[in-house]
Amino acid sequence: MGARTWNLPRPLSHSSISLYAECPQKYKFRYIDRIPEKPKHYFSFGSSVHSALEYFYGAKSLPPPSLDEVLAYYKEHWISAGYKNQAQEEQYREDGEEILTLFYRKHAPEYHIPLFVEYQFNMEINGVPVTGKVDRVDQMPDGRFSVIDYKTGKALAKGRAGTDEQLTMYQLACEKLLGAEVCRLSFYHLPSLTEQVAERRSSALVHALEKKIVSTAEAISSQEFSPTPEEKKCFWCDYKPLCPVYKPQNTPPPAAFATEEDVSALIDRYGDLRAQSKALEEEANFLKDEIIALFEKKGYVRAFGQKYEAIRTAGERWKFPDKKKFLELLREHGLYDRVLAPSAPKVRDLLEDQDIESALREKLSALAEKVETSELRVEPL
Ligand code: SF4
Repeated sequence: MGARTWNLPRPLSHSSISLYAECPQKYKFRYIDRIPEKPKHYFSFGSSVHSALEYFYGAKSLPPPSLDEVLAYYKEHWISAGYKNQAQEEQYREDGEEILTLFYRKHAPEYHIPLFVEYQFNMEINGVPVTGKVDRVDQMPDGRFSVIDYKTGKALAKGRAGTDEQLTMYQLACEKLLGAEVCRLSFYHLPSLTEQVAERRSSALVHALEKKIVSTAEAISSQEFSPTPEEKKCFWCDYKPLCPVYKPQNTPPPAAFATEEDVSALIDRYGDLRAQSKALEEEANFLKDEIIALFEKKGYVRAFGQKYEAIRTAGERWKFPDKKKFLELLREHGLYDRVLAPSAPKVRDLLEDQDIESALREKLSALAEKVETSELRVEPL
């Protein structure tokens, strides 16, 4: 019998297997329909801190980067997506700085260069392609491996490192691809600087994971994407407005309504449409940012799809490193009403207004910082 071919949109990973287990319909939205989820600030924060640690442990030779260099790298590679507002983002940025500083002070004295940092693996389990990335792999003096995964979220549940399938997957990958035994698995919780360590997984647990990988691949290949709704998980699901469980089955609204049921149906229909349009708008904004980032990387100002042409144009926005002081100065001089919330055009008008005393304009300019941005115009071909 020949090897089975799998109909998968991409290799499986710990997170995609978990997503399928959470809800097959959600997996379909994410990986088959390729509808991105909304950016989440906690993912951005985790990636920002991870990349600073990757820089710290990625040194090619000793000595390691200094704390100042690690913090400078962190600031330069900060990911802004998904924060509710500037204040929340600033708070997280400061928290990350503190975490990295404390981490550095604790671990720099014992620094050694790991065997791998962000070890990207690709393997096959019964022909199923599987991929993933291990934060750090150390080689012990006896040649065996220690696997570490950094966590930036809430405190770890007791004993999680002893059972979590993510670490089982990493053991499986390291042993299969790097050819030595894993003797130590750990989750390192960065906000508390505590490490939860577990021994290597038993073969029974590794085989159970292999079976799960194959059964997930079978289900996806057979197009099994039935939704598995549950109040709590659906509440937080970005795809709820698109989900068949929540979409009204009979979409045409009544032309006129006379009964209370009709009003109620219209209200629900209206609410669903609003939620759907919000989800679509968020997706469009996400794609716009992706296109702009690609344009900037490749130096494009114009590119073409099959139906549309996209043109990058220059925009500007203002940053206020000390917003409080800036607003105080405006209030003091009776100019607060001119901006209310400082936006690029309003601030530009204010700073160019010849009726405002030049000394005051200079003071205000010193508190504001103009940032060049890219905008995107899309027109039908
Ligand atoms: S809303 Fe619930 S059932 Fe629908 S995709 Fe999301 S998690 Fe699954």
